[in-house]
Amino acid sequence: MELTDLTCRAVGCRARILKTEIFCARHLAMCQSDVRRVLERKFRPGRKQSHVFDVNLKLAVKEILYYQTEGHHVPRDVEFEF
Ligand SMILES: [Zn+2]
Repeated sequence: MELTDLTCRAVGCRARILKTEIFCARHLAMCQSDVRRVLERKFRPGRKQSHVFDVNLKLAVKEILYYQTEGHHVPRDVEFEF
């Protein structure tokens, strides 16, 4: 594991994260949507992130703020996974 001075990308969070992480564990748990799946697929540790990543990161940060404000996940249509 490589030590870094990176911090969690959630607003106001100062938790240290690894180069291979997007959010700290606490905030990652608050982001459980398709957005997170996109982020995890597009994430390029230690490199400049793609536009798609940046756009979805903003959505994820908003989703986390929503969770912190409302105490539950953003309501969404029921998803079926097979
Ligand atoms: Zn955090």
